[in-house]
Amino acid sequence: MKMGEKKDIRKLSLEELQEFFLAEGDKKFRANQVYDWLWNKSLKNFDDMTNISLSTREMLKANFTINHLKVDLMQHSSDGTIKNAVKLYDDKIVESVLIPTSKRITACVSSQVGCSLDCNFCATARLKRMRNLNPDEIYDQVVAIKDEAEKYFQRPLTNIVFMGMGEPLLNYANVISAIDKITAPEGLGMAARRITLSTVGIPKMIKKMADDEVKFNLAISLHSAINSTRSRLMPINDKSPVEELADSLKYWYHKTQRKVTYEYVIWDGINDDEEHALALAKFCKHIPSKVNIIQYNPIDEGEFRQASQEAVDMYVRILEGRGIVAKVRKSRGQDIDAACGQLANKNEVAEI
Ligand code: SAH
Repeated sequence: MKMGEKKDIRKLSLEELQEFFLAEGDKKFRANQVYDWLWNKSLKNFDDMTNISLSTREMLKANFTINHLKVDLMQHSSDGTIKNAVKLYDDKIVESVLIPTSKRITACVSSQVGCSLDCNFCATARLKRMRNLNPDEIYDQVVAIKDEAEKYFQRPLTNIVFMGMGEPLLNYANVISAIDKITAPEGLGMAARRITLSTVGIPKMIKKMADDEVKFNLAISLHSAINSTRSRLMPINDKSPVEELADSLKYWYHKTQRKVTYEYVIWDGINDDEEHALALAKFCKHIPSKVNIIQYNPIDEGEFRQASQEAVDMYVRILEGRGIVAKVRKSRGQDIDAACGQLANKNEVAEI
């Protein structure tokens, strides 16, 4: 930090804030009040902290900023889905999505600006990774969607999925810190079992999560259980092939006793045959799991096309026939490029 530059107050832990107030000759308790405004109430201005004296507020303003993100553009889909383009303190933009169903309102949040992985079917991959999001930037995306759920649907936010831009396991510390705040009573008080982290599957990090005894759910973007096909779709598979992924998932299950979900798109001419379906069924037997078959959301006129209904039915028949739960998921928010794999700051790109 340069001399005289103000620090983002939300970078401080509660303990650090307490130390700050004690050093200022104030009470430790003052830190708890300020912390509550910052996290539980998500205030964006020191002036709104009504139980803090004017002189203390001025002192805070002289020392700190609150780098809250701003919703730059909000788009409404005909199916109720809302996409936020949120501007960060350094003017970078990420997207997050509110997905309403009859039972749930889900926030789909980003963990990085862009993405360093090169999954060939994903629009975010074309942006390249610019930087990791800070814990408060992840937290604020959730708060923005929580507010929109209350405003537009008069319903509470019920679920959070890390399925927006970026690979959460390549920004692990910040994602965990954000989840800690989201689940803490002095944060949003949401139950960890309502949170799902989706990953391409980085074995070392899956084992670390198991060791850390995380309480949220794990989803793996599998798309193929055959190495040659998976490597073609997701180059990360060259570094960690499906056998290694399976080993890490066994470790995860052994430690956590938690089922995993496999996300799976079926593409025409790529993985729409019986051989791939049988390989998936076999992979599912490693540990208790279920499969979400997700519809492909086209990102251009390229080589990928959604498989036929017959191929989807064949997969469901093969999986269910072997006692594996398989759900076919409809795509949401496609008309505003808010569906899985479509987040690519298109509006920003269009303006350049
Ligand atoms: N990096 C994480 C989270 C972001 S992607 C991960 O890979 O899991 C969220 C989900 O959308 C993943 O399952 C991903 O494989 C899927 N996805 C990406 N592009 C897609 C597309 N064009 N159509 C449908 N799903 C897509």
